[in-house]
Amino acid sequence: MRSNDCPRCQGSMTEGFIPDHTDSAVRKVAIWVEGAPEKSRWTGVKLGKKTRYEIQTWRCGRCGFLESYAKG
Ligand SMILES: [Zn+2]
Repeated sequence: MRSNDCPRCQGSMTEGFIPDHTDSAVRKVAIWVEGAPEKSRWTGVKLGKKTRYEIQTWRCGRCGFLESYAKG
């Protein structure tokens, strides 16, 4: 695991992620989707064939700053 320095306080940052549907037993990693959201009556927000990336979030152990990346 690589480590990053916090841009705020230079503390060390730890890799993690923010799960989607936190109340559900089935947890998924939150994703970033390209473009504006299209509302759908059936599924809430339609994703279709939009570009999407899983979000990786790093947390600073000293000040709690979060930094997120959505890499392909
Ligand atoms: Zn920090």
